[in-house]
Amino acid sequence: MSITREQIRELASFEDAKSGAVSFYFQPSTPRNKAHREDTILIKDLAREALRRLESQVSEGKSKKESVRADVERVVRLSGELRSNGTHAKAVFACAAENVWHEYDLPATLPGTQLFVGRHFHLKPMAHLLGAYPRVGIVLVDRHRARVFELRLGELTEREGLFQPLSRKGRSDGYAGYDGGHAQRRVDDEALHHFKAVSQVLKDSLEKGVFEKWILGCQDAHRSQLEQQLHPYVSQALLGRFAADVAHITNEQIRIHAEQIVERWQSERRQWLASEAVSRARSQSRGVTGLRRVLRSLELGEVQTLLIGENFQAHAVECSGCGHLDAHLVSFCPVCGRATQEVVDVSEAILPWVIRRDIEMFFVKEDSEFDKIGNIAALLRFRSDSPAQVDVAVAAQLGRAGAAYPGRLRKFASR
Ligand SMILES: [Zn+2]
Repeated sequence: MSITREQIRELASFEDAKSGAVSFYFQPSTPRNKAHREDTILIKDLAREALRRLESQVSEGKSKKESVRADVERVVRLSGELRSNGTHAKAVFACAAENVWHEYDLPATLPGTQLFVGRHFHLKPMAHLLGAYPRVGIVLVDRHRARVFELRLGELTEREGLFQPLSRKGRSDGYAGYDGGHAQRRVDDEALHHFKAVSQVLKDSLEKGVFEKWILGCQDAHRSQLEQQLHPYVSQALLGRFAADVAHITNEQIRIHAEQIVERWQSERRQWLASEAVSRARSQSRGVTGLRRVLRSLELGEVQTLLIGENFQAHAVECSGCGHLDAHLVSFCPVCGRATQEVVDVSEAILPWVIRRDIEMFFVKEDSEFDKIGNIAALLRFRSDSPAQVDVAVAAQLGRAGAAYPGRLRKFASR
């Protein structure tokens, strides 16, 4: 079962006061001999290490230890079933004391196999998936056939019933005879008609939101014929193409081609968004850079897209009362005056905010420009220090969500 954004949001809101929330990520090693054995050994090592740390915490209660131990042992048992075929990663979120056990399949693009125990579920590896995966349709066509697949978080499924059963008449074996010319024209007409129908189905699917983006698989000879029929709107949503023979390609080959195309597109998009945020911040329009300014924009509800350097590490403090995050390591919250706690990895602390507010988020891989501006940046929906740009609907929504906008937070933000 692959995960939805809604489920990620639920996981983000889970909290176990006894700090017995277990998060396990399995990233299969690249296929080679004995890989599976190595995966199993690694998982056992991680489990042993987690249990050792648990035992060393003398202050922890017995019930918490039992809960964590039960979950970790169950993870180890599960590792026997994890197939190391390189196609899927897996995430498990568990808290036996609260009767929670969730397993999800993920694309095999996790940073590694990891095990965490804490107050909240550890969601940073998951954050790579937020905003990064559009609903992608894959369309395979030739002159008289079309098949449509859907790619979601590494999972490929065929969508049936989008096309009327197509006429088998006029296939190439039909016209080799005496009336070659006439039959050829009929075949061409049928092909044109078919490509038009495919392009119409694509347009409908995009408009209805069945897909947000799509990928074309066909033989080179058919490519321009189909592409001539595409509505401009459909052409714009095309992420890429690969050569495919509808009748012979396997699902696994389709998935690999499609994932490569999606990955390339994502990395280009990440780069574009990062440079866009930097240039907008420079021109004082809807972009900000640097931890202090990004935190302020997050709290003001301005952020649309958040970009964080993959290896970004920064300390901050979090208010135990109102949840305010501050880049200055102050002992008392400037918003409500309560005591603050230090957070070692601010990007982990930001995550629940990002998930709850449905903010698109990307991790940026080594990028020297991005490094210079502090490895964190955001594109904004609006900018509250230029009131003319405030979107009334967004402000009203923030009001309903209980955000003190633009009063209290505004004051501290501009200090
Ligand atoms: Zn506070």
